[in-house]
Amino acid sequence: MRIYRLAVEMTGFIDNQRKTGQKIGFVPTMGALHQGHISLIRQSKKENDLSICSIFVNPAQFNNPADFQKYPITIENDINLLELAGCDVLFLPSIEEIYPSQFKKEQYDLGYLETILEGKYRPGHFQGVCQVVDRLLSIIDCNTLYLGRKDYQQCRVIEKLLQLKKYNITLHICETIREIDGLAMSSRNVRLSTSERTQAAAIYEAFLYIQKNIKIVPLSDIKQAAESLLTSKGFKVDYIEIANDKLMPLDTWDGKSAIVALIAAYLNEVRLIDNMMIA
Ligand code: AMP
Repeated sequence: MRIYRLAVEMTGFIDNQRKTGQKIGFVPTMGALHQGHISLIRQSKKENDLSICSIFVNPAQFNNPADFQKYPITIENDINLLELAGCDVLFLPSIEEIYPSQFKKEQYDLGYLETILEGKYRPGHFQGVCQVVDRLLSIIDCNTLYLGRKDYQQCRVIEKLLQLKKYNITLHICETIREIDGLAMSSRNVRLSTSERTQAAAIYEAFLYIQKNIKIVPLSDIKQAAESLLTSKGFKVDYIEIANDKLMPLDTWDGKSAIVALIAAYLNEVRLIDNMMIA
């Protein structure tokens, strides 16, 4: 696997590959890789000639400085996992490479996506996400961008970014990879203690509860019951929401259209998010 640390070298390599008609898939990450990330690389490998992964812990998207400080960094292990998965190129830039002194911060018009759910609880987060993805896409001219449904709102935000900036890039949203007990794989899971790790499976239980009862219990009651379930397992809930596929929160459901349940909750210091298509 090639490793590039400089934007100019990364772009030079991509430009040469594109001249020869290579199809390029790109998987942006913040590292501390797990099988969820690797599933995106595998999907990219199936559909492209070249698969590129980036690892960059983006300070601009952390509204909580302590969360940024504590973000796990496991670069040697990440490189091993990427090699094993057959990733072709790793882009591993410094903060100065991504945000050089002449870097101009843009304001992205994300509409309601920025004020609901994660947008509401993490002010500025999605502007930071757009800032880094826009910058990465200016360096890595790919055909397809691979994102995980685990961060469903982020997928919708990036979809909006691609439209706003008129990128000619296909977005491929990949299914969430889970542990055996249903907990969505996440880089933040390594920060859970043994007992917290056991408690964390309650998020998946809450989704199963919602799925089982969605046709018989009104939405507000179902959210209340799911919140009680999480609270009883030691969580402090930021939100439990049921929304349509555009992520508009719903008060009632017509019993037919696609809906997604979304949860963000703290186990002590660690904030976990997850979502599940309910119908
Ligand atoms: P992150 O390193 O957390 O920024 O994640 C990088 C990419 O991996 C994002 O598109 C995530 O949605 C995706 N991802 C993270 N966890 C999972 C998972 N458990 N299953 C599938 N994709 C995931």
